[in-house]
Amino acid sequence: MLSLADPVLGELEKKALIEVIDSGWLTMGERVRAFESAFAAMHGVDDAVAVSSCTAGLHLALTALGIGPGDEVLVPSMTFVATVNAVLYTGATPVFVDIESLTTPHISLEQASLLCSERTKSVIVMHYGGYPVDMSAWKQFSDERGLLLIEDAAHAPGAPGVGLLSDASAYSFFSNKNMTTGEGGMVIVRNKAVHERIRAMRTHGMTTTTLDRHKGHAYSYDVTMLGFNYRMDEARAAMGLVQLERLSIWNQRRIELSARYRKLLGQACPKACVPFSANQDNVGHLMPIVLPEKTDRQRVMDVLREAGIQSSIHYPPVHWFSYYQSRFPDSRLPMTEQFSERELSVPLHPSMQDADVDRVVEVFSSALSDYV
Ligand SMILES: *Cc1c(COP(=O)(O)O)cnc(C)c1O
Repeated sequence: MLSLADPVLGELEKKALIEVIDSGWLTMGERVRAFESAFAAMHGVDDAVAVSSCTAGLHLALTALGIGPGDEVLVPSMTFVATVNAVLYTGATPVFVDIESLTTPHISLEQASLLCSERTKSVIVMHYGGYPVDMSAWKQFSDERGLLLIEDAAHAPGAPGVGLLSDASAYSFFSNKNMTTGEGGMVIVRNKAVHERIRAMRTHGMTTTTLDRHKGHAYSYDVTMLGFNYRMDEARAAMGLVQLERLSIWNQRRIELSARYRKLLGQACPKACVPFSANQDNVGHLMPIVLPEKTDRQRVMDVLREAGIQSSIHYPPVHWFSYYQSRFPDSRLPMTEQFSERELSVPLHPSMQDADVDRVVEVFSSALSDYV
């Protein structure tokens, strides 16, 4: 089976995990700190905060930036549900914004400006598929309206320009992302005070860590805010460190494979559309295809599966989930809905060979000619 995503795991990860066991220290320690520094350096920033997931990172960022009940946060619906759940955790109200177009399934700047109100406090952008949104345009948009700009960068670790212009960006190391620690995440925040607040807030707002006390640097602690247990442990950080070293190489391979897909699909299925463009910066997290109108997508997915090729949909729109429909029944996002009904993601991960891409395109194009 050619899977949609596949983590690259091997001897380096095994060795890193054994070292953690042998060290006898399992939670937030020197490896977590080293992982934060290395991740920050790769993104051209001073520091970062390791957390238990991207979802936790988004929740911390929103909370530490002061977003809460009564505030509105502009969000895409064409995203994983975590982006919007994080807003609800704070008591703020998500306001769904449509995507730009079928070829640019990013949150639309134009629609966002129409949905701004007195209560709008923040906007979360999501770098769909590893293709960064136009951050300078969003920075200008946010500055003009006094909004906090947050990036859900789960798809885009190591992508050019990501994490540099926003108030906070959150990354995911879930097992199907560009690098993994099993579960895990990272937050980058430019403001020093907010950064420190997030650092404390991930561990119950405590003023010292268990490691400080173990080393005799502190004997007790105070709790200065309502925090959470969103800590990362040493085993995950150790894996993260060895994964991070290869992230650029993997991202490069993802870009090559995406380019091959784009070229072959353009030749074999000119009626299908690959979002974004060949020369757009990206780190190839997903390989999305927009099917021709009226394609029987389920049949295409069945044919792929019979040929041993996994496929999926990114994403069912958040505003269509029954929980969200019950809370926000009036959301209408025509472009998002159309994109979601026609999108199909095919396998993309760095261990794929060029021949795998060729085979997927071959099976896909013959399925398409049968079921359009
Ligand atoms: C995976 C993902 C998340 C959640 O990441 P976790 O680390 O699993 O919490 C959030 N947003 C997007 C867009 C994602 O793809």
